[in-house]
Amino acid sequence: MSTAPLLERVRPAVRDLPAYNAGLSAEYVRRTYGVAHVAKLGSNENPLGASPAVATALGQIGAELAQYPDPACGALSERLAAELGIHPARLIFGNGSEDLIAIAAHTFLAPGDEVVTMTPAFGLHTIYPAAAGARVVTVPLRPDFTIDVERLIAAVSPDTRMLILSNPSNPVGSALCRQDMQRLLAALSPATLVLWDEAYYEYAATDADYPDGLQLLGATSLPWLLLRTFSKAYGLAGLRIGYGVAADSAMLELMHRMRTPFNVNRLAQSAALAALDDRAHLRASVRHATDERERIGEALRERGYRVAPSRANFVFFDTGEHALSLARRLLERGVIVKPWLEPGYQRCMRVSVGSRADNDLFLAALHACASIGPAQHPIDRSCESLSKP
Ligand SMILES: *Cc1c(COP(=O)(O)O)cnc(C)c1O
Repeated sequence: MSTAPLLERVRPAVRDLPAYNAGLSAEYVRRTYGVAHVAKLGSNENPLGASPAVATALGQIGAELAQYPDPACGALSERLAAELGIHPARLIFGNGSEDLIAIAAHTFLAPGDEVVTMTPAFGLHTIYPAAAGARVVTVPLRPDFTIDVERLIAAVSPDTRMLILSNPSNPVGSALCRQDMQRLLAALSPATLVLWDEAYYEYAATDADYPDGLQLLGATSLPWLLLRTFSKAYGLAGLRIGYGVAADSAMLELMHRMRTPFNVNRLAQSAALAALDDRAHLRASVRHATDERERIGEALRERGYRVAPSRANFVFFDTGEHALSLARRLLERGVIVKPWLEPGYQRCMRVSVGSRADNDLFLAALHACASIGPAQHPIDRSCESLSKP
């Protein structure tokens, strides 16, 4: 028996799809490297965990597990819509916000369509459009790791079906300021869907010059979908729930047809409601992440590394050497980070903010493992030589 005749007929868009780099689990690293403690700093998770109110809510759900969840996430919709000041029909929920990226790609993109995004970027911003057969054009960052708004404006045209950006950017952490975001939006055609991914919104929201996506997109007449998640600042990555706010409900009617009907499970819906109630836990999570992010960034800069300005719960920096091999040496010391693999950024590494002790472990392990002295780090110009979009 052979599956070859089947596999030969698979769409090229699927056959050529790159695998998502999901990072390593703590169990795997413990087993493989025989380390007692693992600092899991590769996936931007909340080291404070979820609010204790979430465990309480989940404990009460046992009797309902035999019943399907609410396919409309009704209670959560009402609650969140009131908080955001929008009509609930403009909200859509996903099995993580990544689910919504996939649904948007399969709803709004056809084979051959053009999508514009950045590099480096969240892998799924290119993988899901590519799965839908779209052609993805990527715009590199400026050499100082800031978002190159001029090149983004130059890259978009009325032929662009979708613009996908994360603000703050994952993996870099830099964010467009209000003025640059407005310039970019003003350059778009009404035929371009703006997929604005604010997975790290809560960490940046208190900065005075951070452009609130909901406010700025809402002031345009463009089609847009804003994504946020409970995985990061709310500490619910394991439960999988994120949401989207759309320009209007007509867009969402199509997306609802393309999603699986019960894409958000009962536990996730209940946990999200409980998490929204605990504002103090959210504030403590954000405070910890931003304080520690600045401490890690400062320590790296003092050692001579080139560090991106971050508004999120991670730090992206130029290690001055091949980041993948450096990351392997860090694993031997029980430290998981994310070495960047995209061309032009292969000396760069993203480290998530962990507990204070884990962040110290990372800084000490980096000091021990780095193969060249910080003073000798040449500036990485490789990203400047990337071809124009
Ligand atoms: C983490 C992340 C997401 C996905 O989060 P979910 O866990 O799927 O909600 C989406 N976009 C970006 C940029 C992220 O970093």
